[in-house]
Amino acid sequence: MKSHTRVCIIGGGVVGCSVAYHLTKLGWPDVTLLERSELTSGSTWHAAGGFHTLNGDTNMAALQGYTIRLYRELEALTGMSCGLHHVGGVTLADTPERLDMLKAERAKHRFMGLETEIVGPEEIKAVAPITNIDGVLGGLYDPLDGHLDPSGTTHAYAKAARMGGAEIHLHTKVLHTNPRVDGSWEIVTDKGMIIAEHIVNAAGLWAREVAAMAGCYLPLHPMEHQYLVTEETPEIYERDTEHPHVMDPSGESYLRQEGRGLCIGFYEKTCRPWAVDGTPWDFGHELLPDDFDKIEDSIAFAFKRFPVLERAGIKSVIHGPFTFAPDGNPLVGPVPGLRNYWSACGVMAGFSQGGGVGLSLAQWMIEGEAERDVMAMDVARFGRWITPGYTLPKVIENYQTRFSVVYPNEELPAARPCRTTPMYDLFDGMGAVWGQQYGLEVVNYFAQEGEPRFETPSFRRSNAFAATAREVAAVRGAVGINELQNFGKYDVRGAGARTWLDRIMAGRIPQPGRLSLTPMLSEKGKIIGDFTVSCLGDDHFQLTGSYGAQDYHMRWFDGHLVADVTVHNVSDRRTGFQIAGPRAREVLQAVSQAHVGDIAFMDVRRSSIGNASAIVQRVSYTGDLGYEIYVDAMEQRALWDVLWNAGQAFGMKPFGMRAMMSLRLDKFFGSWMREFSPDYTPAETGLDRFISLKKNVNFIGRAAAVAERATPPERRLCAFIVDADDADVVAYEPIWIDGAVRGFCTSGGYSHHSGQSVALGFVPSDQAVEGLEVEIEILGEMRPARLVTTPLFDADTARMRG
Ligand SMILES: Cc1cc2nc3c(=O)[nH]c(=O)nc-3n(C[C@H](O)[C@H](O)[C@H](O)COP(=O)(O)OP(=O)(O)OC[C@H]3O[C@@H](n4cnc5c(N)ncnc54)[C@H](O)[C@@H]3O)c2cc1C
Repeated sequence: MKSHTRVCIIGGGVVGCSVAYHLTKLGWPDVTLLERSELTSGSTWHAAGGFHTLNGDTNMAALQGYTIRLYRELEALTGMSCGLHHVGGVTLADTPERLDMLKAERAKHRFMGLETEIVGPEEIKAVAPITNIDGVLGGLYDPLDGHLDPSGTTHAYAKAARMGGAEIHLHTKVLHTNPRVDGSWEIVTDKGMIIAEHIVNAAGLWAREVAAMAGCYLPLHPMEHQYLVTEETPEIYERDTEHPHVMDPSGESYLRQEGRGLCIGFYEKTCRPWAVDGTPWDFGHELLPDDFDKIEDSIAFAFKRFPVLERAGIKSVIHGPFTFAPDGNPLVGPVPGLRNYWSACGVMAGFSQGGGVGLSLAQWMIEGEAERDVMAMDVARFGRWITPGYTLPKVIENYQTRFSVVYPNEELPAARPCRTTPMYDLFDGMGAVWGQQYGLEVVNYFAQEGEPRFETPSFRRSNAFAATAREVAAVRGAVGINELQNFGKYDVRGAGARTWLDRIMAGRIPQPGRLSLTPMLSEKGKIIGDFTVSCLGDDHFQLTGSYGAQDYHMRWFDGHLVADVTVHNVSDRRTGFQIAGPRAREVLQAVSQAHVGDIAFMDVRRSSIGNASAIVQRVSYTGDLGYEIYVDAMEQRALWDVLWNAGQAFGMKPFGMRAMMSLRLDKFFGSWMREFSPDYTPAETGLDRFISLKKNVNFIGRAAAVAERATPPERRLCAFIVDADDADVVAYEPIWIDGAVRGFCTSGGYSHHSGQSVALGFVPSDQAVEGLEVEIEILGEMRPARLVTTPLFDADTARMRG
């Protein structure tokens, strides 16, 4: 083993080998992969080898498509076989809700260029004849589904990596990883030591233990998983073609042909976590004992769905563990808080996702950012608050619901409440129906007496509709109050703070007492944040952004910090309320000692409210006259009492996130990770109006922003009024123009103030004109829609600015 390497990858499973291949392919040949045993010695050798493109996140689905297409390339490059079987697959729906979900998936696939199709029961019978279609309403057919040989594929990646210059050392166990002052790592193995500029943790089943060597916790946990292989079955081996895959969500099973028989695996509700206290180092080449009790009900269901199984003897049982993150997606990217330490862990579908993980990580390491938005698998999407106590129940829940219908308004119950503000009990007593964001309990809406305290999961308008309408009316008609906890807040101080912000943010940095809105860009000009910057003093600023992006943003800030600036994440220490609506000023005046009439739009003031020392900002995401009032978390309850008591005389009502998202639609305001994400650029989304090229600073992303100004974008974000039925746009519905898919939605919903269904989405720039008639496909139905440019509320901004 050499003494130095540019990248040391720990782990020779399918993921580590894919990372090694992609790094060498993209131009970093000096890669060393260390494997404590033989390649595939973790989960990889257990795998059933199935692959598919389906994923609730469109970017993940695209990366899965990349992975599947890569296998032929690997075979051609290495001359090795991946054992590919491109047999296609069908996912069954036996409830209307499941069919709705599949139709929504199909609609997304249209603009992603995936050739899936909705098929009826008879077509399912024709393509997958061993399926009993009693009760089946339809299905989604995907020609890209298939399976491969896990070991052959991993070895093909490894060979391709070696061909590109990588060294692979087997039987070399990493014992310690020690950071060095220059940012590199000392990696101590049982065969000696190696210094690496970068570490990639691809240790799969042992990723937790390897992360602990660097003093960090990665939120993942192994689960036991079992599949059965049958004896030869005439209904299979007498066919001329291979039987396609069949996913039966009601039976929690996936089935495919294996040789002359079948293979069926289960995601059973009665699942079991594995190695709760840590993965034993001596585990590797053994199987877990068979456990038929655990899957008894699933097998009984499978016998009904695939009667042929009842007659087929079981040839072998594979029962092994593999790891999951709390939401089931991988944990990829630079680990927040560590230098040059990269995660490639928690990959639960290594043969669907391994290629995309390898490609994205290699781009990120070499070019500074991945080509497409990888937020869905970014290791920073979980905050530092996360613990094994949270991860375990969430991972179990994720496993149990892997085949459940996923509703856009669904709030999953495991590990809750986890993080609460001082308002929790009080709001609960007022009828709060809770949602969760980044571990935090957030009020979605307030149910009135007699209304259920639970929002029914649905693809259509839910039972939250009436409550949301009430809350919107209270804001637009008088004044509403809403907790400000779920904003990411950062305190920036120091003699160099203004200069630093000027470089980090693309927009203008305000003078003392003023606010500004600004995008934050990557080097390539992608949107990586949209912030409000408040200047609290010459050397003192507050930034507010997305609550869910705290670690993501702190990782960027830390990575670009300079000596005379400090940045602290105060998201949970600085909290408060926003009050919004035509009577908001009167409420504020009633509780303030100073005159508030001269607080102009986009002003920020320090103010005494009740006992509390507050930061008051004249801005509101509702698009109405409004104020954000921030205090220390210890003073939040006192602030509430003061505002709430004073507010009663002005008709104050509390409102939650459902109302907030409806209110922002009145003004077509975009939202983080819906309209504003690393997938889009400022000119595409209209955020370019907040970029200041005049400021004469070489801010990050400036060159890309200048280039974009010279060449206008091909697509633009627009607003549409949709002639919807009882289902509004959620995200990624295709937009049809003249019979062809020409765009897609980013978000939407019902504007209770205007009584109209609204969608935001991208269409080609040359067609983005007022009045454009389009059709938006919602749950398989074409809904007419019209492009609008005039906001549905306060179009002249008189109320917001007045
Ligand atoms: C029963 C079963 C069926 C499955 N079916 C499918 C399927 O059909 N399709 C699919 O896509 N996925 C399937 N999977 C999941 C799939 O196996 C995983 O997604 C994949 O194997 C993850 O690969 P990995 O490289 O991340 O981890 P692993 O395979 O666990 O590899 C990690 C490697 O790191 C090495 N290592 C750990 N610590 C050290 C150290 N300190 N020093 C050196 N080396 C170290 C280990 O020895 C191991 O080889 C299945 C899993 C199971 C258990």
